[in-house]
Amino acid sequence: MTTQTQKNNIEHFKNILKSHSLKATPQRLAVHEAMLKLGHASADMVTEEIQKSSGTKVTVASVYNILTSMAMLGIYHHRLSSNNKMYFDVNTFRHFHIYDCENHQYRDVVDNDLMEIIEKYFSRRRFRGYSIENIDIQLIGRPTRKRKAQ
Ligand SMILES: [Zn+2]
Repeated sequence: MTTQTQKNNIEHFKNILKSHSLKATPQRLAVHEAMLKLGHASADMVTEEIQKSSGTKVTVASVYNILTSMAMLGIYHHRLSSNNKMYFDVNTFRHFHIYDCENHQYRDVVDNDLMEIIEKYFSRRRFRGYSIENIDIQLIGRPTRKRKAQ
C-alpha cells in the first residue's frame, strides 16, 4: 500500500469518526494505522504493531475496545478464528478468506465469479425460520512452503 493511500485512508477514517461524533484520539488513529498495515489482526497483534512502530501508549484491553467499537460501526469486519481469537479485518469489500491453520493468519481471496455462483444458488435456497443476512466463506489451508524463521 502506498503512503498516499494510507494517508487518504486515515483522512477517511477521521471523517467516519467525526460522522459518529467520535474524537480522532491518538489511540484510535494508531489502531487504524496498524490495521491498515496488518490487514487482518487480533488485538494482541495490533497492540504489538503500535508499540513497535509508534510511541503511542496503548493496552491490549483498550485496543480491543477500539477494534470492537469500530467493528460495530462497520469500519472493520470481525471473525473468530479457529485458535479462538477475535480477528479484525480492515477490508470490508466482498471477499473470501483462506485461514492459514499453521500460522493462524488470514489471506483475502477475491473471486467475483465464485461469489456470483454462490449468491445465485443461495438466492433460490430457503432456510425455514431464517433469512440469510450474509455469506461468509472461509477455506482452511496449510502453507505448501515453509516460511523462513523470523
Ligand atoms: Zn479479509
